[in-house]
Amino acid sequence: MKRTDPQQNGGEAFVNRDGTVAEAPRLKKIQFADQKQEFNKRPTKIGRRSLSRSISQSSTDSYGSAASYTDSSDDETSPRDKQQKNSKGNGDFCIKNIKQADFGRREIEIAEQEMPALMALRKRAQGEKPLAGAKVVGCTHITAQTAVLMETLTALGAQCRWAACNIYSTQNEVAAALAEGGFSVFAWKGESEDDFWWCIDRCVNLEGWQPNMILDDGGDLTHWIYKKYPNMFKKIKGIVEESVTGVHRLYQLSKAGKLCVPAMNVNDSVTKQKFDNLYCCRESILDGLKRTTDVMFGGKQVVVCGYGEVGKGCCAALKAMGSIVYVTEIDPICALQACMDGFRLVKLNEVIRQVDIVITCTGNKNVVVREYLDRMKNGCIVCNMGHSNTEIDVASLRTPELTWERVRSQVDHVIWPDGKRIVLLAEGRLLNLSCSTVPTFVLSITATTQALALIELYNAPEGRYKQDVYLLPKKMGKRPRSMSTHTHAPSSLLCPRSRAHTHTLPNPYSLMPQPVAT
Ligand code: NAD
Repeated sequence: MKRTDPQQNGGEAFVNRDGTVAEAPRLKKIQFADQKQEFNKRPTKIGRRSLSRSISQSSTDSYGSAASYTDSSDDETSPRDKQQKNSKGNGDFCIKNIKQADFGRREIEIAEQEMPALMALRKRAQGEKPLAGAKVVGCTHITAQTAVLMETLTALGAQCRWAACNIYSTQNEVAAALAEGGFSVFAWKGESEDDFWWCIDRCVNLEGWQPNMILDDGGDLTHWIYKKYPNMFKKIKGIVEESVTGVHRLYQLSKAGKLCVPAMNVNDSVTKQKFDNLYCCRESILDGLKRTTDVMFGGKQVVVCGYGEVGKGCCAALKAMGSIVYVTEIDPICALQACMDGFRLVKLNEVIRQVDIVITCTGNKNVVVREYLDRMKNGCIVCNMGHSNTEIDVASLRTPELTWERVRSQVDHVIWPDGKRIVLLAEGRLLNLSCSTVPTFVLSITATTQALALIELYNAPEGRYKQDVYLLPKKMGKRPRSMSTHTHAPSSLLCPRSRAHTHTLPNPYSLMPQPVAT
């Protein structure tokens, strides 16, 4: 394989494709730094960059906003080599550049406007401080939206220490604003794998401070604590996990009898599935394609593989833009839904020669194999919106007769000997994670659900939750009046109408702004 990539140090280190995928197609095993090298044996600058290509699946594929509006790539110094302090003299953080704090603060304020549920929760509960005494260690994308979540948790009484769950997605200016605001944040855009685990460790390993709650996205933080500091679980009251990968790991631990605290599965909450998968993808598919290729959608022939929530969102968006959309499906009900929604149901085989864009959204593996890639027409754009980077058989393109050209960040041209080229986006990883931002409003719903899950686990009386994985109480997705089961959330979190006869958390819908009466 020839590879011409101005941004990489050679083509040796591609995303890890270990055997775990075969066992569980949607998920990959979390890989610990110490399986490769100790994080405190620090590599050279070049070593750090190449390490970043073999980061664990969850830290590259979990969901979030990929964009940072500031480009500090001119500053090559690793944040780990800098001594920085905020304006109050506090240096308990490690970020790219504290001087970007003002800019980051504006980003956070903009995000607040589009996060009504979280802001309402903050307003309603900050008097009562339902998280007073909570010491939350978090590992999520560090973006303006998660900053609003962190600041909400703090307003509700929690102390927070935070690392990034993804090596690319940190908004440096937001991390700076958080550090300036007193948060212990350890994250920057473009971490190496070594940096990634170092940052997590800095959050956890601190004299005189032990977490009692975990907020995780991808399971890396949880598993770092399991591996390095198992005794910490004596004090930890619960884990809140957002991603499909992390949830899968928790179920594995539970099945093996190794889960030693209760865990809340936010990923499968109705609020995440319905908003995140469907509406988020409906909006971000166009953004991801546009930013990477500047393609015009009108009149283009697109095939979308999979008509689940993500596929439905992608199809709706492309249809609205005037694309001619074909769908492939293996489930008869979803296939029928595609027909009812006016899409042409096809076999990939039938349309692969003629389509301009191929999008996978199945959660399955080897959906687009080499045979199809060989038959695509010149200029065909190929991308993936599913969780796993195995939907497109990218490995099959790494053969000597094909030439790879990196033409933009996250955009590769793969060129056949006859000159035909396909446009591969994000090397087959989640397009919207890698190449666009995601809608703040959707993140608000998920973040509110995470905050409520933390409150529920933190305040639950002894014995309510065992050492198992729980879905959020159903009442959180229903109308407050129908709520009847018990939680021990503080009274300020009760919906006013139901306060008299239930103990319950507010549901996220009730926290959205009400229409103004005219
Ligand atoms: P889903 O289960 O609702 O839909 C997947 C569909 O793909 C199913 O209808 C299934 O029958 C179909 N399918 C499976 N194998 C197929 C194949 N070989 N050919 C054609 N169709 C096939 O799942 P979903 O909620 O739509 O999520 C799909 C994937 O997207 C998952 O991996 C999920 O983790 C991921 N996801 C991505 C984002 C994002 O922001 N990009 C957000 C949420 C979820």
